[in-house]
Amino acid sequence: MNKKSVNDVEVQGKRVLVRADFNVPLDEQRQITDDTRIRASLPTIEYLVQQGARVILASHLGRPKGQVNPKYSLDSVAQRLSEKLGQNVSLVGDCVGTVAAEAVSKLQDGQVLLLENVRFHAEEEKNDPAFARDMSALADLFVNDAFGTAHRAHASTEGVTHYIPAVAGLLMQKEVEFMGNALERPERPFVAIIGGAKVSDKIGVIENLLAKVDALIIGGGMANTFLKAQGYNVGKSLLEEDKVDLAKQLIEKAKAKGVELELPIDVVVAKAFAADAPHRTVSVSEILDDEMALDIGQASAAKFEARISTARTVIWNGPMGVFEMDAFAKGTEGVAQAVASCGGITIVGGGDSVAAVEKMGVADRMTHISTGGGASLEFLEGKVLPGVAALQDKA
Ligand code: ADP
Ligand code: MG
Repeated sequence: MNKKSVNDVEVQGKRVLVRADFNVPLDEQRQITDDTRIRASLPTIEYLVQQGARVILASHLGRPKGQVNPKYSLDSVAQRLSEKLGQNVSLVGDCVGTVAAEAVSKLQDGQVLLLENVRFHAEEEKNDPAFARDMSALADLFVNDAFGTAHRAHASTEGVTHYIPAVAGLLMQKEVEFMGNALERPERPFVAIIGGAKVSDKIGVIENLLAKVDALIIGGGMANTFLKAQGYNVGKSLLEEDKVDLAKQLIEKAKAKGVELELPIDVVVAKAFAADAPHRTVSVSEILDDEMALDIGQASAAKFEARISTARTVIWNGPMGVFEMDAFAKGTEGVAQAVASCGGITIVGGGDSVAAVEKMGVADRMTHISTGGGASLEFLEGKVLPGVAALQDKA
């Protein structure tokens, strides 16, 4: 990565503002139901503590829409951080102003505090310069470790970088390095697996990857639009009529570039979108008018798995079927196992894809699981993420 990280700068005794992604899911009692994002932020915080920095954490949580709302307080996060770090992490009532300035002035080397939800201020998402300057005044250095919000130019991700030196945190560095290396310097064969509900969500990703990969595997709901483009009847399957021409063009483009495009050859169909719907596996040429394809079939999975097993780099985004229902999870499971067993670099991005590999118990066998849903999609589209672009370049 050509951006500086916390490892490249002096932090001892400095006030360091760390933008983390603590946007964790909470239940009705506001208890954290999944602390993956908190755990992912620990390496950077622990490093700064060990180096004797004064650590000021900032994050958003949910969508309070610029209003103070206790429902979106970071109090549960402060508590969880205290447990994980083995030191008290107090929550400061505001991320700017006197309250924040006073709390920071009392902070000792190696201590950590957490500022309240930055989205309690409407200025955050507007990237208001005065607000960003106020927040930056709390610190000597800015560390962006919130990969999940790096695709947004907000005050606490981009605005503050105009006022104090800005570098990447260790999580941000890892995300950008793994995905950046895979896209720019992949070990070949390089295989991308794209699935999920809709082609329209991932046109940018497919186009960008077509220019880089040796093989592109397409499954999930979006495969139906490609099957239709190949002339098959897809019955009542999820289909984007208006994207059939685009699918045809992408098939042509793959051919022209010499990219092997792998589409399903069989599918699991049902007459209803329901977990207990009777289902059967048919060739893609045998889908009836009143049936919908809800998973790839065994023959498709075997074909995909064979392609994946020889890959040296795999990027996977989007499940192969409606994996939330056991009857339609086998295609995703087979692909998950194949990716996990492949000897190359394996990267999984996308909220549902990550949930799928976790559900299938293979998450720890992947090289890298991206913590950023929207941000990882934009990265795979080849877009420049404003939160990354704003960081200092390496000399
Ligand atoms: P990600 O979050 O990993 O980027 P998406 O959000 O694009 O993935 O797609 C995931 C969703 O796609 C899942 O909810 C899954 O049920 C749905 N899906 C996958 N295959 C099908 C299908 N054949 N028909 C309808 N929905 C599907
Ligand atoms: Mg999703």
